[in-house]
Amino acid sequence: DTIATDNVVESACPYCGVGCLVNYHVKDNKIVKVTGRDGPSNYSRLCVKGRFGFDYIDHEHRLTQPMMRKKGSAKDPTMVDFDPANPLAHFEPVSWETALDAAANGLKQAYAEKGGDGIAGFGSAKCSNEEAYLFQKLLRAGLKTNHVDHCSRLCHAASVVALLEGIGSGAVSNQVDDIARTDVAIIIGSNTTGNHPVAATFMRQAQANGTKLIVIDPRQIDLMRHADYAVQFAPDTDVALMNAMIYTIIEEGLTDDEFIRTRTENFDAIKANIVDYAPEKMAPICGVDAETIREIARVYASAENAMIFWGMGITQHTHGTDNARCIIALALITGQVGRPGAGLHPLRGQNNVQGTSDMGVLPMYYPDYQRIDSAESRQKFEAAWQTDLNPETGLMMADIFDSIENDGITAMYIMGENPAMSDPDLTHARKILAKLQHLVVQDIFFTETAYFADVILPASAFAEKTGTFTNTDRRVQLGRKAVNAPQGTRQDLWIINEIAQRIGLEKSYDDAESVFAEMRTVMPSHAGITWDSLESIGSVTYPKRAEDQPSEPVIFRDKFPTANGLGKLVPAVFARAKELPDADYPFVLMTGRQLEHWHTGTMTRRSEVLDHIEPLPPIQMNEHDIERLGLTAGQRVEIASRRGMITANLRLDNSLRNGEIFMSFGYYEAAANMLTNNVIDPAAKIPEFKFCAVTVRAA
Ligand code: SF4
Repeated sequence: DTIATDNVVESACPYCGVGCLVNYHVKDNKIVKVTGRDGPSNYSRLCVKGRFGFDYIDHEHRLTQPMMRKKGSAKDPTMVDFDPANPLAHFEPVSWETALDAAANGLKQAYAEKGGDGIAGFGSAKCSNEEAYLFQKLLRAGLKTNHVDHCSRLCHAASVVALLEGIGSGAVSNQVDDIARTDVAIIIGSNTTGNHPVAATFMRQAQANGTKLIVIDPRQIDLMRHADYAVQFAPDTDVALMNAMIYTIIEEGLTDDEFIRTRTENFDAIKANIVDYAPEKMAPICGVDAETIREIARVYASAENAMIFWGMGITQHTHGTDNARCIIALALITGQVGRPGAGLHPLRGQNNVQGTSDMGVLPMYYPDYQRIDSAESRQKFEAAWQTDLNPETGLMMADIFDSIENDGITAMYIMGENPAMSDPDLTHARKILAKLQHLVVQDIFFTETAYFADVILPASAFAEKTGTFTNTDRRVQLGRKAVNAPQGTRQDLWIINEIAQRIGLEKSYDDAESVFAEMRTVMPSHAGITWDSLESIGSVTYPKRAEDQPSEPVIFRDKFPTANGLGKLVPAVFARAKELPDADYPFVLMTGRQLEHWHTGTMTRRSEVLDHIEPLPPIQMNEHDIERLGLTAGQRVEIASRRGMITANLRLDNSLRNGEIFMSFGYYEAAANMLTNNVIDPAAKIPEFKFCAVTVRAA
């Protein structure tokens, strides 16, 4: 607090979906300190990332000049010579004019050859709503392609598919702090203290005030220390466990029959489906005794108000959509939705993953989830954007990669994403990126993905620009520019606008406010949010359908936004992961995040404090397995799957069960996704990051 500053800028945290509001304390155009602001989702609290993870923006690796691939420089899928500090080994600096012309001309050439089907765009849940809106508009209106997707495909796609199918909306029904009004909260598949730390403080506080916490996870996660019921279950058995809970609720007469009769459909299918899921039968599969399954089902169903929170542990499976369907079924058959303290909350990962989805950076939706395959929606956007639009639903990320592999898509525009680190089976993913004839990458660092680019556009970091971001609570919040970006970089909005002009879109935008003004006219759920209100309050919850109508923190009170207003119960059948352990690969690998590092590490590994806390990639394993393999905690080990091998340091972690390993996917020198399996959930096309077979030995 003794650090002298020139000014304090009110903004939001650039990391997770909790959306903590912050004060940036600025001195000589540098952020010198971050403190928590009394925002509606954080009450002045911050975690270690929000408080200390800001200096990446001053890192010497910042890209400060546009670049183009040197003639004759091959795109080597092995990345053997990748050096995050030295893009000039493969690229040469060019002027902004040259880079933007090259970026646009490559996209135009692909369009001339194949139409929109030859082009795809991958947006980022770290960009603002305005950047996301403009990005998808450029691709849809300018290049006639709906092959537009973003990283929610790798995180909550399964939740969104199940929620849209079941209750007609992919967003949360209740906000995190509603847990204070909850009698019982289930937290399943979410290491909340590590991944949504400030949200975890609300959970802990609620428990201290009498809310019963039921924490369900394959690992003995920190939150279990505060749980009334700590349920450690076998990875991959979510459907077995939750169907056994549904079985108990129905068998013991704990359903809310009035809610089922008036608010849902398809209950008979659920009843028919669960006959084989008695807790006594599922117990050995889940590794949880039958009485515990029955008890947590009773506690949840009997509560006056109950909520369920979940994370990637639910979604990143080939049965991720089925997992989420079970969660929705639990809430619908017990009537635990549509009231304060009763609802569903998929904890969103990135700070703007909710907003990027809302803005239509998805292959099947225009902004506000207006369907591409609806003639009415298409005509609305054709009128708004003054151009014809492609009526065909686009491809999801996994299908985009298949199309590239099969000589379909040849050109791609990637803004702020890093699939060369975040996709499963990186050997395969990198080969595909290398195959693109024209790849434009817009980012702040020379990422693994930028290594495969033809044109690199140096963009602006979070604290260098103004825009809105929508947190996990459906709160649209203003992130304000606190410092000037380094010379040579440009604002992302400006870059998209310049490319849009070059491909023939007429409308130009001066700033985020002018984009937001257009967004409101085509997004009914945001129509009532004014820029002035964002500037004065800083955070406004949607839906807010008109300026004189209130926001709706709790939704689905009277009906669901489905065609008939009813919630649809969808039965799920238990199925195993696609690759089970065997004699050659006897361990199960689960990947995820760590408290200190964010996703592929591009920001946090360049933040001094965070990198000093966690400088090296750990492979986590329990004491029993370490001893059984004759290894020692701290030593170098090799971990291999059928797809690749990496080397890292062994760390003792007794939160894991026997035969299970955990790794973060944020370290380029030990990229866990070299090992993961490129198999996907059939509905959501989300990869199975939470389960593949590996082996470990001394390095
Ligand atoms: Fe930032 Fe999330 Fe931490 Fe809040 S909880 S400070 S939003 S990373």
